[in-house]
Amino acid sequence: MNLVLMGLPGAGKGTQAAEIVDKYGIPHISTGDMFRAAIKEGTELGKKAKSYMDAGNLVPDEVTIGIVDERLSKSDCEKGFLLDGFPRTVAQAEALEKILFDKNRSIDFVLNINVEKEKLMERLTGRRICKQCGTTYHVIFNPPSEQGVCDKCGGELYQREDDNEETVKTRLEVNIEQSKPLLEFYDQKGYLRNIDGNQDIDQVFNDIDQLLGGLK
Ligand code: AMP
Repeated sequence: MNLVLMGLPGAGKGTQAAEIVDKYGIPHISTGDMFRAAIKEGTELGKKAKSYMDAGNLVPDEVTIGIVDERLSKSDCEKGFLLDGFPRTVAQAEALEKILFDKNRSIDFVLNINVEKEKLMERLTGRRICKQCGTTYHVIFNPPSEQGVCDKCGGELYQREDDNEETVKTRLEVNIEQSKPLLEFYDQKGYLRNIDGNQDIDQVFNDIDQLLGGLK
């Protein structure tokens, strides 16, 4: 089961990834996580990636494609894999085609969790965090019992600066523009499957599960 997971910020990619790997026993390969781990460990890769990540830019393709190739060659990927955060560009998608072709494999599905932009805005701007203990809430989906006060420690809740409406809107628009050519690429290849992410978490997973069940 060879999968690529796509979705805009706030679409619930992380939640669904956890459910997929749990049920199907394939490794979750997140390039963002790999880079963060490398930075923490202070490896050569981490040193290379850090400056790009700190500036909010993409890590160069030759670095990123190399680590994905290496990771997909490990034995735990024999059963399949769930790629998350890669590919991010058409050049990376083409490189992935070649990597898999050389291993006599190919992508089964590119799962794109689709959520309306307005809903994403609501999800992302409604986040509130406790100043004291860091617990996160959502004003609509996971509100504290008393408005503005942490249930756990009584601390004051605040909104992160980059969760404000303007910044979130820009972040979403940039992401939409970046993912467009990639979605077209995978649509043309016939791999793309759009998942309705406007539903509740269990229903979204149910839809994914039904699709993947057909692969076994
Ligand atoms: P993420 O956790 O997926 O949001 O990734 C965090 C950061 O890691 C990104 O902002 C990039 O700097 C870098 N990164 C992750 N995946 C890729 C990729 N496929 N290509 C280039 N840079 C990436």
